[in-house]
Amino acid sequence: MRSAEVIVVGGGPAGSAAAQRLTQAGIETLVLDKEVFPRLKLCAGWITPEVVRDLELDTNAYPYSFLTFRRLHWHLKGLHLPVANVQHSIRRFEFDAWLLERSGATVVQHTVKDIARDGAGYLIDGSFRCRYLVGAAGTSCPVYRSLFRDALPRARALQTVTLELEFPCAWQDPDCHLWFFEHGLPGYSWYVPKARGWVNVGVGAMAARLKQRGQDIGQHWQHLVSKLEHRFGIRVPTSPTGYSYYLRGPLGTPRVGNAFLTGDAAGLATRDLCEGIGPAIRSGQQAAASIVSGSAYTLGDVTGASLGGGLLSRWIDWAFTRGASPVTR
Ligand SMILES: Cc1cc2nc3c(=O)[nH]c(=O)nc-3n(C[C@H](O)[C@H](O)[C@H](O)COP(=O)(O)OP(=O)(O)OC[C@H]3O[C@@H](n4cnc5c(N)ncnc54)[C@H](O)[C@@H]3O)c2cc1C
Repeated sequence: MRSAEVIVVGGGPAGSAAAQRLTQAGIETLVLDKEVFPRLKLCAGWITPEVVRDLELDTNAYPYSFLTFRRLHWHLKGLHLPVANVQHSIRRFEFDAWLLERSGATVVQHTVKDIARDGAGYLIDGSFRCRYLVGAAGTSCPVYRSLFRDALPRARALQTVTLELEFPCAWQDPDCHLWFFEHGLPGYSWYVPKARGWVNVGVGAMAARLKQRGQDIGQHWQHLVSKLEHRFGIRVPTSPTGYSYYLRGPLGTPRVGNAFLTGDAAGLATRDLCEGIGPAIRSGQQAAASIVSGSAYTLGDVTGASLGGGLLSRWIDWAFTRGASPVTR
């Protein structure tokens, strides 16, 4: 039996952000992840300046791929709108491993299956015991499954489906491109260049609306593949991989007893651009703050809108979800 004051299930951005704040406060923290890091994580790896600030990331000292783009290219209903806007890209394969190591927590490879209450604490798979538990294992998080299914039901209307691929590529265009609603897609596709000769391309949509339209995400992937070839001269080398996650709905109760839910496990990705890295980090840090200080665990300052919640944000949200489950900010 191995014991720690806090066990964090999942070592992605939510888990490492929580672990870092906990170890900084001198709290014994164990991270359990089913993978050995560095591990593959499907994600475009686009991060906002807010993420850089929240992580107190010294971008000059970060030892891996880090690219800043000064403009975003929006493609909307045949219109091309280049917008001056500073954003960044990283490779999740590198970034997540670096963040987890930086957290200073002990990391153990273990696939969590069973979680049982144990007095005020928790017993995991009969092998790990803790007083506080942080669920940070993404969409299929076992902490969600065991303790939060009733407190935080997930709305099918907020489920995304994605296909993406990251591959070495001598790209020419250093900016990020987003194509919204093409060919009836209830979502968008993207081209995100990375430093050191990589690119990430993909397509994401609202699963239920895609199904209603009798469409398949694979068709939209094919549209993207032809566009990349014609627009950028990029030949996509292999088949993509898929993943599904939930956008932010009403916040419900992200804490039950001494268990806290964070990141994708809590369904926190933004409603307009479907970004989840920032909300994962903020929620992990908030969960840690609550454990350290005994304060309430609130997600009030975890943004639900990447574009600030104004008219454009709300219109994209509506176009994606047709008004399903109002977001609480
Ligand atoms: C195709 C795609 C593109 C995206 N692009 C962007 C983007 O550009 N920018 C952005 O901000 N967001 C993006 N997102 C969303 C973003 O990737 C997620 O919101 C973010 O990774 C959530 O972080 P997390 O720490 O909650 O979960 P994760 O990053 O998924 O980490 C969960 C960890 O838990 C581990 N785990 C899972 N199950 C178990 C288990 N049973 N036991 C132990 N460990 C377990 C996993 O191995 C993993 O390491 C994208 C998502 C997809 C699918």
